[in-house]
Amino acid sequence: MQITFWGAAGTVTGSRHLVETDKHRYLLDCGLFQGVKNLRRRNWAPFQAPPASINAVILSHAHLDHTGYLPRLVRNGFAGPVYSSAATRDLADILLADSAHLQEADAEYLNRHKLSRHQPALPLYTMRDAAEAMRRFRLLHNHEPHALDEHTRVRLHRAGHILGANVVELEHRGKRLVYSGDLGRLDDPLMYAPDTVADAHWLVVESTYGNREHVESDVQSELADIINRTAARGGTVVIPAFAVGRSQLMLYYLWQLRLQQRLPSNLPVFLDSPMALRAVEVYSRHSDEQRLIDREIRDLYQQVHFVSSVEESKALNTVAMPKIIVSASGMATGGRVLHHLKHYVGDPRNTVLFAGFQAPGTRGAVMLDGARQVKIHGEYFPVRAEVLGLSGLSAHADVNEILTWLRGFRQPPERTFIVHGEPAAADALRLQIQDTLGWRCEVPEHGQSFTLD
Ligand SMILES: [Zn+2]
Repeated sequence: MQITFWGAAGTVTGSRHLVETDKHRYLLDCGLFQGVKNLRRRNWAPFQAPPASINAVILSHAHLDHTGYLPRLVRNGFAGPVYSSAATRDLADILLADSAHLQEADAEYLNRHKLSRHQPALPLYTMRDAAEAMRRFRLLHNHEPHALDEHTRVRLHRAGHILGANVVELEHRGKRLVYSGDLGRLDDPLMYAPDTVADAHWLVVESTYGNREHVESDVQSELADIINRTAARGGTVVIPAFAVGRSQLMLYYLWQLRLQQRLPSNLPVFLDSPMALRAVEVYSRHSDEQRLIDREIRDLYQQVHFVSSVEESKALNTVAMPKIIVSASGMATGGRVLHHLKHYVGDPRNTVLFAGFQAPGTRGAVMLDGARQVKIHGEYFPVRAEVLGLSGLSAHADVNEILTWLRGFRQPPERTFIVHGEPAAADALRLQIQDTLGWRCEVPEHGQSFTLD
């Protein structure tokens, strides 16, 4: 067996790990490169293995940095099955359609304003490609082995990172390759902790927070303080949150606060994001994947006013009473939250509360940095609202939680590869694993191959 790292090597995006046996090719994750231009350019280069030669794709979870290249792979000739959990399929359906829509809209914008060197500018893929990719999905149940070919089996374990997220195990002629995907927290309120996997000859492990420990924080109390303070001065709390994952977690915390009677009883909560709304439907359908029972999930979402049409969204801003608006995108880079920011950011009674990681250069990062004004749709708005970030909301295991998961292996893997981390994080995890567990491990470079035998 041979593995080549065609993404998420020295960076956190573009997860694509190509596994080759004597007769077959399997791709573990099929992610989009995101962030700086040098990385995004890789999405346009031909994939190193001809897509038609790949026998199957296996997905760890639905995030675009693990699935967002799939429609392109299909467009360029990949004709095999895509294996995942049911929840990953359902969430990927939402995320890939949205990604394709954005690709098409961007190309259309560039063409309309003649802003591209390419005539015409083309989308990386279209809605049709995304729909075609969705037809390739084949569902796997956790822990049930499935034969990919006569010598290779795949098995999924729970990773706890987002709904449907998995650790992937490939077994070929008695040798096991385990790929962590993205690992979740040990004590996430909605997701179960990652499953212990006992045996691996070779291990590929993520390192997003390989050099960080999450600070213990009381998210609920922090949130209650912020909301009560804002409501007391007659203001509105606008919460930019990622449509899949963060929005649902935020609604969970609000529900808990309401049950504990720690919020004003008449304070309405609005979820204003068509994508988050579709994600709520998926979360409601897959109760077996969460720590809540059906009745709790029903309760949780019953407290929320769902806003679907643009008219309803606009109407929200004509109501001057205190309220909470949860809306996407999470870093305020686009989406409906921009309209709410325009409306609320100039009034010191209001609060803008960011609920997740803010990548450098995004509007969210700029605002959290204390910008006095913010540019939205070409216009500058003064920032007078309170601007805050909520800590303690990560969906990724920190270094200690990664080590806890690694201690679950009965024996040290022969080789351990560290991926999905910025160079400093990946290297810090490598040292931690060597020093505390004594395992041999390495940080692969982009395009580096290893033969495993
Ligand atoms: Zn992820």
